Amino acid sequence: MNINGHTEICGLIGNPVKHTLSPLIHNTLSELCGKNLVYVPFQVENGKLQDAIRGADALNLLGLNVTVPYKSDVIAELKDIDGLAKNIGAVNTLVRVEGGYKGYNTDMTGLYRAMQSDGIEIEGKDIVILGAGGAARAVAFLCISKGAERIYLLNRTYEKAAAITKEIREKTGQDRIVPMLLADYEKLSGKDYIVIQATSVGLSPNCEDVVISDENFYKKIKWGYDLIYKPSQTRFMKLVEENGGRAFNGLKMLLYQGIIAYELWNDVSISQEQAQTVYDALKEACYEQ
Ligand code: NDP
Repeated sequence: MNINGHTEICGLIGNPVKHTLSPLIHNTLSELCGKNLVYVPFQVENGKLQDAIRGADALNLLGLNVTVPYKSDVIAELKDIDGLAKNIGAVNTLVRVEGGYKGYNTDMTGLYRAMQSDGIEIEGKDIVILGAGGAARAVAFLCISKGAERIYLLNRTYEKAAAITKEIREKTGQDRIVPMLLADYEKLSGKDYIVIQATSVGLSPNCEDVVISDENFYKKIKWGYDLIYKPSQTRFMKLVEENGGRAFNGLKMLLYQGIIAYELWNDVSISQEQAQTVYDALKEACYEQ
């Protein structure tokens, strides 16, 4: 890497940031694209978010990713915000504009691109989302915006699923979303569902945990998408596959949220081949230690 007077800087703000795989994604992309750009993690302490954004602006940083716990709080610091990110109420990518930064949510466009690359189309499909936390909320907005036929939002705490449903109905005018209690999964009477597992259950080291263990539920699933990527095969994914469906983990979502951010910062288009190279590097870093 030849760092010189022309080197541009992007980075990740959050707390903690030490576990992040984003430097691997972006620095590999810069290598592949021949860009003179470095990507580094910035740990931002509680109460310092505004200083961090103003500092980034003053230092002319090209762009930032934003992670936990600042994805919502950062919105107050932006010059502009993309429509989907505004609806979702969460931003993970800041792109330099005149006088500050514009916020985007590439977690969700990343999930969409990951699903497309796996041959899964949301439009016209019945979707089941497991969970009603930050990720599930964003997935629900994505599914509405991409024309899902019906969305069933199942959560252990019903009130959270109901609150998201209400918000989506108010913001989009769409009533194709139904809140349900997780325990009521037997009431799902359709088949060939796309199920997006957006709870934190099953995350390493609790790899044998799953929110629904009844095989009958899994017989109704055509595509199962777990947002968790560690372990590489969750129990949810195993159950989907054992019952005839196809299953995917969340590593491609992580890959594509990074790729879309990189494309926004550099006004480039990352090829399928380049994406595969970064994906291979991610798999090695994640699973082959
Ligand atoms: P949140 O903490 O906001 O939400 C957690 C969700 O899990 C809630 O719906 C919660 O239900 C549910 N849950 C937790 N424990 C249990 C349990 N024992 N039984 C049933 N439900 C439970 O987390 P996020 O939405 O931010 O993240 C969810 C997952 O998505 C994480 O595992 C994260 O790693 C993954 N993720 C992956 C990304 C990627 O790039 N691949 C990006 C973002 C997230 P309740 O409301 O009842 O508490």
